[in-house]
Amino acid sequence: MTRRVTLIPGDGIGPEVTRAAQIVASATGVAIDWEVVEAGEQTIRSAGTPLPPSVLESIRKNRVALKGPITTPIGGGFRSVNVALRLELELFASVRPARAIAGEGTRYPETDLIVVREATEGMYAGIEHWVDRDHTAAETVDVVTRKASDRIVRFAFELARREKRRKVTAVHKANIMKTTGALFQSAFRDMATAYPDIIAEERLIDNMCMQLVKKPSEYDVIVTTNLFGDILSDLCAGLAGGLGIAPGALYGESIAVFEPVHGSVPKYAGQDKANPVAEVLSLALLLRHLGESAAAERIERAVWRVVAEKKVVTYDLALPGYTDRPVPPSSCSAMAAEIARQVPLVDLSSPRPQYVPPSPTRA
Ligand code: NAD
Repeated sequence: MTRRVTLIPGDGIGPEVTRAAQIVASATGVAIDWEVVEAGEQTIRSAGTPLPPSVLESIRKNRVALKGPITTPIGGGFRSVNVALRLELELFASVRPARAIAGEGTRYPETDLIVVREATEGMYAGIEHWVDRDHTAAETVDVVTRKASDRIVRFAFELARREKRRKVTAVHKANIMKTTGALFQSAFRDMATAYPDIIAEERLIDNMCMQLVKKPSEYDVIVTTNLFGDILSDLCAGLAGGLGIAPGALYGESIAVFEPVHGSVPKYAGQDKANPVAEVLSLALLLRHLGESAAAERIERAVWRVVAEKKVVTYDLALPGYTDRPVPPSSCSAMAAEIARQVPLVDLSSPRPQYVPPSPTRA
């Protein structure tokens, strides 16, 4: 059966990393008919808007999309296409696994976290205004509803149960944000009673940042509001090995969009330099969502092997500093080709690869 999937190449490095994901998808043998639609900065010139209605129509029709990053101008300019997509399609759950790969590129080789971020409200929804005509004061509205909080917290507990995770940590700032923070906190506390098999705990956002950097292995699934989730998922990506390897998914009730955590990295656009792994692992999440678990597993294991072998890796994984094995960096397309080459070679009957710490005598 051929699957029809919307593909949004996006801005900056987006076309390069989505092309890489398409090459890896071909190697799995799963037949995908990509419906390519354009959104983002470039689309303003061709369509007069960064988010043409045809993009939303395509995703609504196909119900699943793979997306590259899209630039959002800082300060003025057009409103975030990413935020608009989440709101228009009610993609309420942003799921961002942060897993170290073969211990490379990280000081925390055992990192294995999942950040679950509410994606439709909070301060990130961009509801703001100038207070005065001279623009000397401004306000942002932080909207938190019981309905959306219940929905995301339930999603996090269900995900924890499905993935056999032991703990869900809610992150908020209810000591200072005594209405919005407390509302999210009480939704979490009430929902936790329905999941006695999973440990439920809370952290204030500031403490959580410190705890994560000190001992990330203490944490498992993290559920939080929109802006805190945006920040924490980059932090967790950094713990796991960097934005170049951090995949993501956005789930609504019946639509899912898969995209890396990273942005469009304008400085590397068109240089065939960016790490394709985050987009490729987002593709693996997409395939699992479509029920193609074996193909997803093949991709994840092929990525693991390529990163562990460290012969064909992009600059961010080739750097010295975290590792005793600096190597010459490869291009985005070369790394994608190597992952694609390894996909059919994966032996799914063998155990999943595990990180093995170097023996003390090796050093
Ligand atoms: P960014 O993620 O684009 O880049 C931050 C840094 O991370 C880069 O300088 C680079 O060193 C590293 N990096 C990120 N992805 C990498 C990859 N695949 N390979 C190697 N290194 C990588 O963040 P930014 O510079 O803050 O944002 C740039 C633009 O992207 C902005 O316009 C922002 O709004 C947008 N953005 C879009 C999304 C999205 O589409 N979902 C997400 C985040 C940022």
